This record gives sequence, structure tokens and C-alpha cells, in this order.
Amino acid sequence: MNWKPALATMKPYKPGRSIEDVQKEFDLEKIVKLASNENPYGCAPSVRKLLMDSGVQVEMYPETSAPPLKTKLAQKLGVDETNVILGNGSDDLITIICRALLNRDTNTLMPTPSFPQYAHNAKIEGAEVREIPLTDGQHDLDRFLNEIDSSTAVIWICSPNNPTGDLISSERLKKFLDSVPPAILTVLDEAYYEYITEASYENPIEWLSEYPNLMILRTFSKAYGLASFRVGYGIASTEVISELNKIRNPFNTSSLSLLVAEHALADQAFIDECRSANAKQRKRFEQFAEKHNLHINPSEANFVLIEVPMDANEAADKLLQKGYIVRSGNLLGTPNRIRVTIGSEEQNNGFFKAFETLMTNRG
Ligand SMILES: *Cc1c(COP(=O)(O)O)cnc(C)c1O
Repeated sequence: MNWKPALATMKPYKPGRSIEDVQKEFDLEKIVKLASNENPYGCAPSVRKLLMDSGVQVEMYPETSAPPLKTKLAQKLGVDETNVILGNGSDDLITIICRALLNRDTNTLMPTPSFPQYAHNAKIEGAEVREIPLTDGQHDLDRFLNEIDSSTAVIWICSPNNPTGDLISSERLKKFLDSVPPAILTVLDEAYYEYITEASYENPIEWLSEYPNLMILRTFSKAYGLASFRVGYGIASTEVISELNKIRNPFNTSSLSLLVAEHALADQAFIDECRSANAKQRKRFEQFAEKHNLHINPSEANFVLIEVPMDANEAADKLLQKGYIVRSGNLLGTPNRIRVTIGSEEQNNGFFKAFETLMTNRG
């Protein structure tokens, strides 16, 4: 078959290890998965209740053009429904954006290390991928501007960035948007939006009227605790949304997923609790790093990138043997660091203890 040439250089996504899998290998009673930034507090109680008796009409196609979820999201975000697109996770929206705008005649700019799906989907479309290294753990926005040329079609910004956790200040971001030519779609991936506690953060949805080429991506997979349901959403100008809707698969979200996300959206008290619990635990990671003299990136997300006193693969392996699944930075482009999802208080207590055994073995 005539596969696109880009496929020859690509590998399928490699997910973190599953609890069952690790349990089998190491014969441990308790395994704590801190590798994929899922919510350790689960999802809202009302959602849990809903799942017992959802009343979903299973034989009918889902209402995906104007489902109640979209209406409620638009209301909550203070935009029109024509400014919102729903995806099968925000991963789906990344794919749709690439299909709509990228081909061999175009290039696309993104930070590195960052979320791998931007580059992955851009390569499938045959576009030139221009990866711009972080400097001191931050997006180098000046270099982004320098790399723009007449073939640049999409710019990706991830804030808080995965895997570093850094938030771009609203001031820097606005200045950047002022300098990006209006014909370039600028995608701001805010998958960790709900975890932000920085006081100077400004909600970029308020900037949409000023920048018709800005698109914001958010998701129900992280703070809402609904990763398994696959619901993400994008917010942008009516023009951008209507073009992307031409590419979207007509039934890209399921009825049950839409209903579950609608209930989850209604329970903002749960999100507030998760945000403050996460912020409290994040502080403990900072204190832990300080105590052991280990580098840690300032994070506004529900994970941290922390230095380890040995090769990152080796550290991740040792933690795995103690029942803690984390992500080695070697795979993420950050050697000597591991990315750890911030767990619940009890999970973190155990994690710190396991980590401390790495320190005693030092040297
Ligand atoms: C987890 C994550 C996503 C994907 O979220 P889904 O909605 O589950 O597809 C997108 N962007 C970033 C930066 C992420 O970390």
C-alpha cells in the first residue's frame, strides 16, 4: 500500500504502564499510578451516581452538533455556541486542526519538550515540524516569532506545559499574540487550566474578540477525572470553528460521554476542591525537592518534573519496583528528571518514602 512517507519514521503512542501489568511483574500488593496526570480524587459524586442509571438511548446516534453540553459550556465560558467545538478528547481536536491546515507546503511551530501529539499529527499531514526548545523551562516566544515565515500555518503553545508544568505569564502571551500574523492559527493548549492558581493569570477566552486566529483547547480528562470518556473542547472564532466542523467526524463523542461531561461541568465545587487539594500537595513536592536539593520546575499543573539522583530510566524502574508508576524524562526529552502526577496526600506520603530510598543509595 501507498502509506504516507511520514509513517515510516513514526511509532504508535506508548502509554504508561498499567497497574495490572506492574502488579503481575513485581508481585506487589499496592500499586500507585502517578504517570498519566489522571485525577487521584476520581470524578464528581453526581457523575458516579449518574453512571448507575444513565437513561442513555443506546440505539440512537448521539446529538453531537448542538448537545446540551455545548450549550452549557458556552454559557459557562461566556461565548456563543458557534465558538465551541467538541472532540473525542482534545487529542481529536489536535488531529482535526492538523487535517484542516497542514500539508507538505506548510510548517508548524511548537515547543519541545511538550505534548507529542502536535508533532505526531503534523508529520502525518507531511508538514515541516519546527520544534523550539524551551529555555530555562519556558517557551522561547521570541524564537517562535523568528521562525515564522510565509508557510507557517499553525503555532502550538502549551500552558501549563506538559511535561514541565510551566505557565506562560498572561502578559508575555498577549505580547506574543500581538506579533503573530493573523493568518496563522495559534493553538493554546490548556489541558491543565483547572489547576492554575497563579493570581496574575488572565482567562484567554476574554481575548478571543481581539485575536480571531486564537484557539484554546481544554479537556474533561484531567481535573474533571473523566479521561476514559474522551471529551475535550476547543474555543475559537466562529470562522475557525465552522471550518474545523467540516473535518470533525459527525459522531465523534458518545451520548454517555456527553451526558457525563454535562454533569461534571455542573459540579464546580468538586473542581475547586481538586484545585486546592492539588495546590497543597504540589507545595509538598516543592518542599521535598528543596529538602533534598533536587531541581524542580515551578508547576501550575497536577504534575511536577523533578530531578532524580541517577539516570531517569533507572530511577523510574526503582520506583516501579516499589509500586509507583511515573514517567521517565528520558522519553520526554528531559533526561535526569521524572514526571510525577501529584497524587492524594496518602499516595504522596508513600511516594516520598519510596523516593527517599533512591537518595540513600546515592553515589
Ligand atoms: C492530557 C493532555 C491532552 C489530551 O487530553 P485528552 O482530552 O484526553 O485527549 C492534551 N494536551 C495536553 C498538554 C495534555 O497533557
